[in-house]
Amino acid sequence: VSSPAVAIPPVLGAVSGQDRAVAALAAAARSPVHAYLLLGPPGAGKRDTAVAFAAALLCPNGGCGTCETCRRVLGGVHPDVVVRERTGASITVGEAREVVRLSARSPSEAARKVLILTELHLVGPAAPALLKTIEEPVPGTVFVLTAETVSPEMVTIASRCVRVDLAPRTAEAPEAEAWRRAWTEVPARVDGTGATVALLAAELLEGCESTLEPLRRRQAGELAAATARAKELGERGAGLRDLEERHRRQQRRIRTDELKAGLAALAAEYRNRMVAARSEGEVRAAAAAVAAVDEAGRELVRNPNESLMLQALLVRLGRAE
Ligand SMILES: [Zn+2]
Repeated sequence: VSSPAVAIPPVLGAVSGQDRAVAALAAAARSPVHAYLLLGPPGAGKRDTAVAFAAALLCPNGGCGTCETCRRVLGGVHPDVVVRERTGASITVGEAREVVRLSARSPSEAARKVLILTELHLVGPAAPALLKTIEEPVPGTVFVLTAETVSPEMVTIASRCVRVDLAPRTAEAPEAEAWRRAWTEVPARVDGTGATVALLAAELLEGCESTLEPLRRRQAGELAAATARAKELGERGAGLRDLEERHRRQQRRIRTDELKAGLAALAAEYRNRMVAARSEGEVRAAAAAVAAVDEAGRELVRNPNESLMLQALLVRLGRAE
């Protein structure tokens, strides 16, 4: 779909580090089809790219980035751009049905409406509920799906979409980088003392808070835009309460995902130690540590008292050393 002759609308030009995807989307925005799939690794900026593309699709100037329409789309308060994200570990059938219902509504202001559904690789058994609507949405509805990979459950859906690949972004958010490093340093730091356990647990949970910062900044922007709009239109607070509830859910979800990612980095570090071990005892210690980390991951899902879970894990790792 890309063509070097197509001018890049400013709203898409503002997406950094994705020149090829941006060129493809700029060309697509001129005569959009019914569904797009943005594929890329975590941190590639899939959601922001999808929202910028939605602005280009709705903007009366083709994606100026400054008009009322663009500002409301980017602020997350345009009624004709709907973003749906999973609330649990995967997209549920109920959530898929809600997407189908929303897609059947006609646009309320613009000529078309855009439905953004994120993390489609986690669609699981909900895929059949979405397929028919995505391959043949009501006229005027454009689907923009995002996914990290084409998972087996979503192969058919993916085959009905125009696929746009996003490049991995080299510069990871500094918060996320520090967070991952903190986990990989755990094996070298645990020493079996209660003081170290308390210190490490506090550091790791603080690090988790800091990885939520980019999300919080984005949410603060959304809330400010929504508040300004509510004031302008004299609306009551129901929409704002919904938004705040959605923000809380997003934070909980990202928090759990970040803790899982941290535990995965820690398990990987112990697996490296297993490979590099020079004695039977070292292999056994590393294997016990991997098992303890895996168990903590399962515990996190069952009983999400993060602080207790982490402390118990660090005590076990200290004993394994
Ligand atoms: Zn505009």
